[in-house]
Amino acid sequence: MKFISTRNNQPSGQQSSVSFAQALFRGIAPDGGLYQPLETPKLRDLLMSFNGRHSFVDIATALSAALLSDEIPPADAAALAEQAFPFSPRLTASDPTILELFHGPSYAFKDFGASYLAACMEYFLSAENSRAVILTATSGDTGSAVAQAFYRRQNIDVVILYPGGRVSPGQEKQLTTLGENIHALEVRGNFDDCQRMVKEAFLAPELQHLPLTSANSINVGRLIPQSFYYVYAFSQIRESLGDDKLHFVVPSGNFGNLTAGIYAWRWGLPVAGFVAATNTNDIVPQYLETGVFSPRPSLQTYANAMDVGNPSNFERILMMFQGSRKKMQEKIRPSVVSDEEILKVMRDVYESTGMFVCPHTATGILSAERFRKHKQRFITLATAHPAKFNEVVEKACGKKVPLPAGIAASMKKPKKSININNTLNSLSLFLNRLDKN
Ligand SMILES: *Cc1c(COP(=O)(O)O)cnc(C)c1O
Repeated sequence: MKFISTRNNQPSGQQSSVSFAQALFRGIAPDGGLYQPLETPKLRDLLMSFNGRHSFVDIATALSAALLSDEIPPADAAALAEQAFPFSPRLTASDPTILELFHGPSYAFKDFGASYLAACMEYFLSAENSRAVILTATSGDTGSAVAQAFYRRQNIDVVILYPGGRVSPGQEKQLTTLGENIHALEVRGNFDDCQRMVKEAFLAPELQHLPLTSANSINVGRLIPQSFYYVYAFSQIRESLGDDKLHFVVPSGNFGNLTAGIYAWRWGLPVAGFVAATNTNDIVPQYLETGVFSPRPSLQTYANAMDVGNPSNFERILMMFQGSRKKMQEKIRPSVVSDEEILKVMRDVYESTGMFVCPHTATGILSAERFRKHKQRFITLATAHPAKFNEVVEKACGKKVPLPAGIAASMKKPKKSININNTLNSLSLFLNRLDKN
């Protein structure tokens, strides 16, 4: 599979495409666009061959082999999928309309993308015997998925910048307790400082000799594996689906998760429609309703991993609908959920079933209720473990969720971070020292 930039508007046939490995290590295209699959392989027969007896690793293996065989031979695809995914998506036993994506090491769906990206980067680097330094800024969640995914990967160092005193204690422990090849830099500044320093580092002449790369959520290497769990969900329910129409409800912020679902549909997964659930950061819903895409500063909500005012994957989605709002409307319905509604859904679900859901998942559950009809099957993606958002859980339900073992264990470990100033100079000093060791 080859990849092109979303901003590559040359007539077809003249596009300058890149390989999967190139798209991974570049992250963003030189023209500032995002990498997108050039072809749309028709995989209907393969997709329809999966059923409830296939494991997630089986499906990930078969799909990687079908999509990436020019760079990853089938035998290696199996090994890669196996080591990337020691965890699996799960349909909730008591309610198979919910797809739990939070059983990975950081307890959120971003583990699927980050872990597969890490496995692929290690694979490509070891083939060339070269190394990479992943540089990333985090306000919390993305950083912990990246840290966990790259921990102990050969030939890779990860440098994570986070704003001192501004991430939650749980998130800080997930970033700072791993050590070894994971370097946590506690910046004396805010998240914007961290992002600016990372951007400056990529452009800095004194750092050009370093193999710097990024692993942020716009990397197409994170989206491809996210498409696998849509296929998995279908395989698990297809025998009971009959001729009901399948819909996915996707709690969305940067719209990477929804982009991955659209990939799966374009490859042939029988998906009748998607619901894009957002919090009050409703830039994409507004676009679907008015035709105007108008990014603005993000609002703070209870579903804070979806507090995005300029959803970066929108240009990928628009490209797949040939720039047509009408075509997009045929496949994606918007649903905006307020903070009050989030609390109410969390409380109602808890009171009626005893189950805790995270505030992001709550936006999906309410959206499914808004749209579900006879002969339609809705699957809502549960994006994070509720224990990661215990403050909101307590506000809604009057109780906290017990911490899962992995979070409880990292809370007990000592924090290892390095304090630096909010300047490129401080970051350069650290990176050059790392390079000499
Ligand atoms: C990142 C995140 C989202 C939003 O996903 P996008 O791919 O950015 O749309 C939703 N829920 C949780 C818990 C997240 O961490």
